[in-house]
Amino acid sequence: MEKMELIVKGGTVWTPGGFIEADIAAARGKVVALGRSEAFPASADTVIDAKGKVVLPGLIDTHTHHREPGFTHKEDLTTATQGAAAGGVTLSIGMPNVDPPTTTVERYRDVIELSRKKAIVDFNHNPSGTVPEQIPGLAGAGCLAFKIFMVRDTGRDYPHMPGIGLHNHGALFRCFEEVAKTGLPLMIHPHDQDLMDVIEQRYWERGDRSPQAYARAYRDFDGIIWDTAIATILRFQKATGVKLHILHTSTPGGLEMARRAKGEGRPVSVEVNPWALFLGSWENVEKLGPYCLGFWVPEHHVEALWQGIEDGTVDLIGTDHAPHTKEEKDIGWKDMWKSPGGEPQIQDYLKLFLTAVNEGKLTLDKLVRITSYNPARIFGVYPRKGTIQVGSDADLTIVDMKREETITNETTYTRVGWTPYHGRKVKGAPVYTIVRGKVVMQDGKVVGKPGGGEFITPVAG
Ligand SMILES: [Zn+2]
Repeated sequence: MEKMELIVKGGTVWTPGGFIEADIAAARGKVVALGRSEAFPASADTVIDAKGKVVLPGLIDTHTHHREPGFTHKEDLTTATQGAAAGGVTLSIGMPNVDPPTTTVERYRDVIELSRKKAIVDFNHNPSGTVPEQIPGLAGAGCLAFKIFMVRDTGRDYPHMPGIGLHNHGALFRCFEEVAKTGLPLMIHPHDQDLMDVIEQRYWERGDRSPQAYARAYRDFDGIIWDTAIATILRFQKATGVKLHILHTSTPGGLEMARRAKGEGRPVSVEVNPWALFLGSWENVEKLGPYCLGFWVPEHHVEALWQGIEDGTVDLIGTDHAPHTKEEKDIGWKDMWKSPGGEPQIQDYLKLFLTAVNEGKLTLDKLVRITSYNPARIFGVYPRKGTIQVGSDADLTIVDMKREETITNETTYTRVGWTPYHGRKVKGAPVYTIVRGKVVMQDGKVVGKPGGGEFITPVAG
């Protein structure tokens, strides 16, 4: 028998058919044996004792703002993927609002080359699908999906710099048609700018530009700016047949529309972000102000999201890891409209979800499905990724369900040096992250090196 790279012994292992007690052996980056028998390989370069631990397929984040090129004062491909490794993520897929934005094949290739040198975990990048003529070439270059921000192109340089926002329905429809031909998912950030203009104006006229005003504006009329946009893109989906992936789903209205479309058997998938479940409460808007925005998510919306996770309406968790510096955030205390939305997420979200599993909010099996198995299937990399079976990549996240920790700014890998979850007590944490048979994180410490990540393209068939 050939030399094994890795053996993981004695753990409880997730498989699509359920949890099993099994050892795992890996060679050439792949799982080559799974089970417990006399015939199991006896030695390997690395042997990990996983007794009392649970072995999950590595997490896949389809929505990470790596920030490079262009915004490396916030994050770069190395720091972002260090955070990923620390958080149990083995495949991290970047977003197009970098500078220059990835609207063309050439720019996409440049980002991939940069990622090859700097990423610690496996990677790809979702280019912008706003230029119809570039879409076939981008698909040919190996992307897994396209992303469009449904916002007016304001010409502002961040977060929606020229070229990646598209609000005109005719232009947007053309992109739906073009992406549909590629067979790849189209990720849309839903937003109704015309309604937002009216809503925002009312706060500004009162002179209120506080975090609380911003939080309310985005949620006025129970989230009307989200719901009208979701209604539009679902109608576009029906007309074009595109695989529609709805980002940032956080309203009961939006969920209900997606639920109905999925019930009709249409290729619609739903993303929820960790901030919507764990961060967006009014209490946090008051306490953390700009550091929790993103968006306010009221309690009855959060309840609808957990329900959507339970009944399968929600397909996956994208972290929307979106670091900004403290200086950029602090402006928001006075004028939230001058401060960028979003915050670091990728290092902490698995711990928050494991804590939720311990609290009985979801099962561990469901957690694996929304953080690994479903993302792999929707983004076309299954069964290479998103499962533990013979022949799949040996991407493993070993978790200790009993480990208690307090999340702190001090242990965060993000360049900005803060996490909105600072001080949060968790129960359940990843203790090893393994990418294609190589340990990249042990006990919270990242040991993987830049250049260790591989460019992951769609699995044929
Ligand atoms: Zn995002």
